[in-house]
Amino acid sequence: SAITHEASCIFCKIIKGEIPSFKLIETKHSYSFLDIQPTAKGHLLVIPKYHGAKLHNLPDEYLADILPVAKKLAIALDLNIDSPEGDGYNILQNNGRIAHQVVDHVHFHLIPKRDEKTGLI
Ligand code: 5GP
Ligand code: ZN
Repeated sequence: SAITHEASCIFCKIIKGEIPSFKLIETKHSYSFLDIQPTAKGHLLVIPKYHGAKLHNLPDEYLADILPVAKKLAIALDLNIDSPEGDGYNILQNNGRIAHQVVDHVHFHLIPKRDEKTGLI
């Protein structure tokens, strides 16, 4: 709709299917997909179906849909996550150029950190 999407935004276009993406999970208020330039295998993004540039621009109902999706995806990545010396992951969310934000539509990065010793690549 006109209210929640911005015509020139690449992530709004991904949500609408106007730019192809490798979709992972879609919910009422969120969309997740693989990052096109992954910094690790499985690097993915979770975004709200709402065009807001920064976290504080988002209505709470959109924010509330994101972390449960990130949790499901963290489990789906099948990392060896529950041992203290095993794999891990980072969730990153940049706001503003000075904080390394490039795409001005809120997005949460989920970046696997695989422990090479576990052999689970
Ligand atoms: P930022 O630096 O804004 O936090 O990160 C933006 C992220 O979006 C980057 O990791 C970049 O690779 C990803 N990205 C930019 N354009 C596209 C695209 O068209 N498709 C996908 N799948 N990811 C994109
Ligand atoms: Zn947008």
